[in-house]
Amino acid sequence: MPAQEPIKVDPGFSRTVETLTKLNLDACFQCRKCTNGCPVTFAMDIYPDQVIRLVILGQKERVLRCSTIWVCSACETCTTRCPNEVDIAATMDALKEMAVKAGVQCPQPKTYAFHKAFLEDIKRRGRMFEGRLMQSYLFKSGEFYKKLVDGTIKEDISLGLNMFKKGRLPLLPKGIKGKKEIKEILR
Ligand code: SF4
Ligand code: SF4
Repeated sequence: MPAQEPIKVDPGFSRTVETLTKLNLDACFQCRKCTNGCPVTFAMDIYPDQVIRLVILGQKERVLRCSTIWVCSACETCTTRCPNEVDIAATMDALKEMAVKAGVQCPQPKTYAFHKAFLEDIKRRGRMFEGRLMQSYLFKSGEFYKKLVDGTIKEDISLGLNMFKKGRLPLLPKGIKGKKEIKEILR
């Protein structure tokens, strides 16, 4: 039986997350209302209430390496349901940011590619342009070549054309006022 790796504890981890989010994570009393309302737990490796618990216990490595923080779709159901005003969605965001800064390899490379493509688009125009977003995602994730080889790119093109015909995929991007402010928020 292989020897178990010792559990590493970072005693300052919880305070760092609390400083970033301006939240009091100690308020969590593990009622699991967040997890019970989350629509994507089926795809998570640890549940939202466990993420909060592990942060409190200083399990930095375990938390920053989990897929949960990337699977979270920021729908905020958990945040709304929490009786102790723990903003779990904001905590997931802060943890993603910490994972990227710490150079932790994302266990969900396609999700990471989508996040990158999405944020770059918002930074550039202040709002998303679906046509550019999909291209950028396909290249960043490596899916473009895969789809080209197996022929499934044709399905994407056909879907894009159908969306265009129904007015759901504009040909040109639209800008917004206040692009500078958006850039500043993202910076
Ligand atoms: S709903 Fe709030 S108090 Fe309950 S487990 Fe989740 S974070 Fe903790
Ligand atoms: S914000 Fe994330 S963790 Fe919370 S309910 Fe939605 S998907 Fe689940």
